[in-house]
Amino acid sequence: MTGDGLYDVLILGYGPVGATLANLLGQEGHRVAVAEMHPEVFDKPRAVNLDQEALRLFQRIGLAEQISHGCVPHYGTNFLGVDGELIKAIYSAPPPYPLGWPANLMFIQPEAERLLRERVETLDSVDVRLEHTAIAFEQTRDVVTVAFDTPSGARKVRARYLVGCDGANSPTREWMGAQQTDLGFSEHYVVVDAWITRDTPLPSRTTQYCYPDAPTSYVICSGKLRRWELKILPGESVDDYNDLGRIRARLAPFVEVDALKLWRSAVYHFNARVADTWRKGRAFLAGDAAHTMPPFLGQGLNSGLRDAANLSWRLSYVLRGKAGETLLESYQTERRPHILAVTEITKDLGKIVGETDPAKAACRDQRLRAEMAESGPVTVRQALIPPIAHGFLDKEGGILAGTLAPQPRVSRDGESHLLDDLTSGFSMVQLAPGDNLLAVTNDLETDSPAAFKCHDTECLLSGSMQDHGIKMMIVRPDGVIWSAGADPAEAIERLCAAFKKPVPEPCQ
Ligand SMILES: Cc1cc2nc3c(=O)[nH]c(=O)nc-3n(C[C@H](O)[C@H](O)[C@H](O)COP(=O)(O)OP(=O)(O)OC[C@H]3O[C@@H](n4cnc5c(N)ncnc54)[C@H](O)[C@@H]3O)c2cc1C
Repeated sequence: MTGDGLYDVLILGYGPVGATLANLLGQEGHRVAVAEMHPEVFDKPRAVNLDQEALRLFQRIGLAEQISHGCVPHYGTNFLGVDGELIKAIYSAPPPYPLGWPANLMFIQPEAERLLRERVETLDSVDVRLEHTAIAFEQTRDVVTVAFDTPSGARKVRARYLVGCDGANSPTREWMGAQQTDLGFSEHYVVVDAWITRDTPLPSRTTQYCYPDAPTSYVICSGKLRRWELKILPGESVDDYNDLGRIRARLAPFVEVDALKLWRSAVYHFNARVADTWRKGRAFLAGDAAHTMPPFLGQGLNSGLRDAANLSWRLSYVLRGKAGETLLESYQTERRPHILAVTEITKDLGKIVGETDPAKAACRDQRLRAEMAESGPVTVRQALIPPIAHGFLDKEGGILAGTLAPQPRVSRDGESHLLDDLTSGFSMVQLAPGDNLLAVTNDLETDSPAAFKCHDTECLLSGSMQDHGIKMMIVRPDGVIWSAGADPAEAIERLCAAFKKPVPEPCQ
């Protein structure tokens, strides 16, 4: 903290999104306070699936290996129609993995959150304030102040920026006066997490039983953990599921219930809401505070982590004086339409699963079988996630601008690395003369860009660049392609114009 008691950023909420943001900003040396009302990590999982973008982000904070340790891949999802036969299938993309990490892994949320917090503890510039319940907010032109109730009395924390990572009922959002658009999904499900205690017949893939009399999801999680999501049926009430007998009866058609040790069950209201305003002055929203969606594509947390990735480098650049405040505007411009698109997909999947009208379910089956016959039986999960359409991108950056840069494994000076571990700031990758040789220039937006060469050992990036007919790409700190094309000098000029700085001499 600065001598005047002013933090650079106050993060409200120490869930997975707040903890990730605290790591990203703290490792850049920014003075961060992260405040949370509860004393401990919430010890029950909600998210069970991490995607390749999340793992790449955890790589940036040195945790991807640890978090992915012991995780199992997502084996894909079968949707079964009224007759119990396949109506739709979604697979995770097989190797080679374009971002350097498996497309989807099943993880245990509380374990990952503990790792994120342990990492925060190693950062001198981050203060963690547990048992701090935010009760009031105010901001001036320069400072945000949040008042807290704590076990030792009232406290105030002042910061240059506030990020509300404070969950679906976000007090930050309320204080900002941000309305939410309801995207029209509202269903209640009982979520049951259980450990398998002995061999028992179960599907080898995650399965959506799209049965109108009992819509049920079966999710293969990490290790022996399995999840069932049971839709609360018309005529039933949430309270009916306080009765364990009712839960067991709903599980019985799908699993030998005595082969399970129940971990927890809880009723969730699956809804789809997106905040209309993600920024007010010095306050921002991220994670569930900004958006909620049903879990049928496992994208709620993954999207919150995208928010953290997108906002952290912007805040960092503005705090360091490398960019003006306008850079912060494009956070919402980029993230909100992306969330709207992903939420529509998850809603559609939720409607497929949750149909309780037998006649409509029969039509659904017919339609989806026709789609499978036309486009092949397989939808690749990652292909459903769109690129960024508008925002801080090079307007002349070609069709790859806004997509995710592949992350190859490269060899440099005889050592093997994932490319992101060698890059910093805005980096440019060019195809160099030689066998799969890449020429990389880091920190293009600074006065001291630095260049090196490396071999793309599996031709992942060089092959992709050749396939797209491009010679260079400029990649943002969050792994999004800012520009891709043929002429590096012109692209660098446009980047310098965007940062309002002189064009540097070419690196030797
Ligand atoms: C059944 C289910 C399955 C899911 N499956 C997946 C999945 O597989 N993949 C996926 O990506 N997502 C999934 N999700 C969504 C995912 O769980 C959430 O998107 C994610 O956990 C949200 O993280 P967050 O950090 O934004 O918010 P939270 O985890 O809700 O954290 C918010 C924090 O803010 C704190 N807070 C709130 N108010 C205050 C206050 N006044 N003062 C101080 N602190 C405060 C809270 O105590 C909390 O710790 C699932 C969700 C559900 C319900």
